[in-house]
Amino acid sequence: MEIVIIGNGPGGVELAKELSGEHEVLIFEREEVPFYSKPMLSHYIAGLIEKEKLFIYPLDWYERKGINLKLGEEAKLIDRVRKVLVTDKGEYPYDILVIATGARAREPTVDGKEHLLTLRSIEDAEGIKALLEEHGEAVIIGGGFIGLELAGNLAKAGYGVKLIHRRDTFLGLDEELSSLIREKLEESGVEFHLGAELLKADENGLLTTRGYIEGKVKICAIGITPNVEIARRSGIHTGRGILIDDHFRTSAKDVYAIGDCAEYSGIICGTAKAAAGHAKVLANLLRGKEDRYPFELRSSVFKFGDLPIAIIGKTRGEGEWLDEHTKAFFQDGKLVGAVVIGDIRKAFSIEKELKKELYGA
Ligand SMILES: Cc1cc2nc3c(=O)[nH]c(=O)nc-3n(C[C@H](O)[C@H](O)[C@H](O)COP(=O)(O)OP(=O)(O)OC[C@H]3O[C@@H](n4cnc5c(N)ncnc54)[C@H](O)[C@@H]3O)c2cc1C
Repeated sequence: MEIVIIGNGPGGVELAKELSGEHEVLIFEREEVPFYSKPMLSHYIAGLIEKEKLFIYPLDWYERKGINLKLGEEAKLIDRVRKVLVTDKGEYPYDILVIATGARAREPTVDGKEHLLTLRSIEDAEGIKALLEEHGEAVIIGGGFIGLELAGNLAKAGYGVKLIHRRDTFLGLDEELSSLIREKLEESGVEFHLGAELLKADENGLLTTRGYIEGKVKICAIGITPNVEIARRSGIHTGRGILIDDHFRTSAKDVYAIGDCAEYSGIICGTAKAAAGHAKVLANLLRGKEDRYPFELRSSVFKFGDLPIAIIGKTRGEGEWLDEHTKAFFQDGKLVGAVVIGDIRKAFSIEKELKKELYGA
């Protein structure tokens, strides 16, 4: 079969890796570089790793795997009737088409937004790194995982870092866990401005509901916008993301969507771990095997400077510390979620237990 994949992020590349021995696999990627790690971009910006370390799969890896990678080629339209993908350079027939176009950083809408940077690609990282090295400090807007990762790594590298966040808590966690994250990052030098809504940006800083915060380098990390345009243009149903069922099927026959661009029952997963997980399950489904992705079970792993954290399942309500690293959450006496912080070795077994609880496997 001819499997055509749009997007060379963790979703696309993991799927290609799974299926390349069994089928012809062709990936289209509009960027000019082979696969790189987005979670490592803030390490690179901070100067904690060399650029080469970002590239997990170099070009010869694709060759060895027999994956045909077309870099610098943008997919434009899916001709569902002829089963052909139209790019800016040509037309390619497919048996199975997988949209793994990911997402972009959500754009701020405030006045002066042209003074704000965002981080998604290696190119964005290069721009931020150059400015940071010139100014020595940064202001980060957004206390999501990208903002916290960036803050942690920049502070670890000795840069001055201010973090502005509209809430007092992070990542949907309770006050206690949010305080733990904050204290750990404060120890490494991050200055927090919590409960501060961004109103306006200018060349020298930001006006927030908690006053004016100075800073020449301002990075906005306030979420993602799924890349759904090609699906929309091709008449495939979309909401915030490309709408899929639990088999990753879109509204078009033989067209699937995985990763950050896909929306299942209102859920956009938004992590590399999930995108790679989608790819593995879709590969099994295409092989005709039974499999399912646990969309209802949030499971993410991040590292904020030197602080690793795993967030699994539901983490609201009364929690209970099982040991100094693990706060577990229960409903009707049953484990429904946990946060593992500092030493995250336990996270894997907890995730397994929760999966068993939810899906019986
Ligand atoms: C700074 C940063 C830190 C992160 N840290 C973590 C972390 O610690 N843990 C974690 O789990 N996740 C993390 N993430 C999130 C993670 O990187 C994403 O969830 C993941 O990359 C999504 O994978 P994807 O394959 O769906 O999409 P993407 O990685 O976005 O890849 C999609 C690819 O498709 C290409 N593309 C789009 N449209 C077209 C088109 N029309 N034609 C051709 N190519 C196209 C894009 O150029 C892109 O390369 C981080 C993200 C960022 C930006």
